[in-house]
Amino acid sequence: MGTQSVTDGLVIRDFNVGEADRFLTLLTRKFGVIRANARGARRMKSGVSTGTQLLCHADFTLFKGREKYSIDEATPLTLFMGVRSDLEKLALAQYFCELEDFLAPKEEEASLFLRLILNALALLEAGKRPALQIKAAFEMRLLSLSGYMPDLVACSDCGIYEADEVTLLLQSGVFLCAGCAIRDQTPPNARAQLSRGALAAMRHTVYADFSRLFSFSLPEHTLTQFATASERYLLATLERSFNTLEFYHSLSTIC
Ligand SMILES: [Zn+2]
Repeated sequence: MGTQSVTDGLVIRDFNVGEADRFLTLLTRKFGVIRANARGARRMKSGVSTGTQLLCHADFTLFKGREKYSIDEATPLTLFMGVRSDLEKLALAQYFCELEDFLAPKEEEASLFLRLILNALALLEAGKRPALQIKAAFEMRLLSLSGYMPDLVACSDCGIYEADEVTLLLQSGVFLCAGCAIRDQTPPNARAQLSRGALAAMRHTVYADFSRLFSFSLPEHTLTQFATASERYLLATLERSFNTLEFYHSLSTIC
């Protein structure tokens, strides 16, 4: 016995199994991150072949048996071909997928998590915003959705709201103004400097309305500072590394 249900989702990981099957990790709207078997998905005539490829957003008809899901139907909605055909964009997309796999809810509703990655992939595909900006905004908002929202309202010691230069403390997710940072004992590898513009960008990605999340622009050096701090905050908060992130960085040293 089992139950059938329909939900849309994104294929965030895939393994080939045997000669014709595919084993997938899906980020679905209704059930969050699930593992599902797509039997026969690699046969040419299979109805689920296209919809079960990595990075495909599809409507899935899922059958839940006693322990696992299997995919009865997959109707592709978006294939993100422009992301797949560009090595750097693909590498970044796979990093987004790995982060979602780690942070998104399992077997629970996950609309916001799905919306976030679909928006990020669409922008990456469109190419109208710097990849680094999409990456940093995605990281900060995903952390915030997952319960790791930093407190960027004011200096955590004196309460001042704005400053030309502040220090983000990576372990605690708070910042100190320059005056308070002088007295702080946090070692350099656990702090990141943010200019006024970089702090404003980080605040935007944490607090802005979702519809405006990716809508900002920064001078290149400010974007680099913000994005570096965002990545360091993510790695310090999650206390682990990501293979896909290392691969993404390895590309920029080659190119
Ligand atoms: Zn202060």
